[in-house]
Amino acid sequence: MQIKEIIHYLEKVAPRSLQESYDNSGLLVGNASNELTKVLVSLDVTEAIVEEAISKGCNLIVSHHPIVFSGLKSLTGNNYVERTVMAAIKNDVALYAIHTNLDNIHTGVNRKIGEKLRVKNMEVLAPKSGLLKKLVVFVPLKDKDAVAEAMYEAGGGKVGEYDECSFQLEGTGTFRGSTNSNPTIGKIGVREYVDEVRLEMIVENHALSNVVAAMINAHPYEEVAHDIYTLDNSHQQIGAGMIGQLEAPMYSLDFLKMLKDNFGGVVRYTSLVKDQISKVAWCGGSGSFLLKDARAAGADIFVSSDFKYHQFFDSENEIIIADIGHYENEQFTKELLAEILIKKFPNFAILLTERNTNPINYL
Ligand SMILES: [Zn+2]
Repeated sequence: MQIKEIIHYLEKVAPRSLQESYDNSGLLVGNASNELTKVLVSLDVTEAIVEEAISKGCNLIVSHHPIVFSGLKSLTGNNYVERTVMAAIKNDVALYAIHTNLDNIHTGVNRKIGEKLRVKNMEVLAPKSGLLKKLVVFVPLKDKDAVAEAMYEAGGGKVGEYDECSFQLEGTGTFRGSTNSNPTIGKIGVREYVDEVRLEMIVENHALSNVVAAMINAHPYEEVAHDIYTLDNSHQQIGAGMIGQLEAPMYSLDFLKMLKDNFGGVVRYTSLVKDQISKVAWCGGSGSFLLKDARAAGADIFVSSDFKYHQFFDSENEIIIADIGHYENEQFTKELLAEILIKKFPNFAILLTERNTNPINYL
């Protein structure tokens, strides 16, 4: 198996087009056509992680955080980023990062944190818009099922927990072929009236080219009349952060203790303005930008990391902020990545790093 097979699968699960504009997810070092030996999964890539990969015979490291984030101007070994990249190149270890695209999918980083928070009814806290299209195609009545089937198969018609969603309206289509045409129905130069169906469905941007290709392939006409509309709807399953309910309300202090037990490190928190916690919002990594969304959604507590001193004041005695640390809240991402890969490649060696990459110690 080549490295690219793992990459293709990961990008099916979390398309790279879903990463934030500032991000640098993808294959950062290595040749995707190389034969894969074993995969090492980690939150971060450091020199120690590359060494671990070499010692375990892994020639691909899949990490959440990209080692190269804002570009490299030299490779002289002046800092840990350059040294890590150089060690990877020297030893033929490929580096692949799956960062904010894994944050933004509802089955990603935040879902895993939600499981550790023991929360149910999880929803995306800040769904993104601009990710959906409406695709409309006009099909002869007898071919509508075959065309719809091909479009579903290619990823069209997904709405939340439902798939194969479409709307179909019967009507009459007209056309007249030029002398250069080769019409499936009717004669050249004569106006045709055909019983057709207006078949429409929602398609995610990242699936659009595949769905259009499948639609054209399955359609009997030489020219396939279709429209693509841009939608303002938000995508309920893609976006930043999550919110959900605890199975049963917990006293605030008990909830904070649970955070420390389950995530380790230290918990920095604001005034306990709620006696009990039932609605929890959270965001893996640096989530302070979502505090206003958590407040607006009526969460009792917002669990994230990397809050600065003045940002704690923004709780405004309306919500509790719990900053549990960046490494701590994303530490289970390696488990998530391993689960994703093992599900698809059950017989392949997918190893979890045994090293703690947290650069921060607590006294
Ligand atoms: Zn992070």
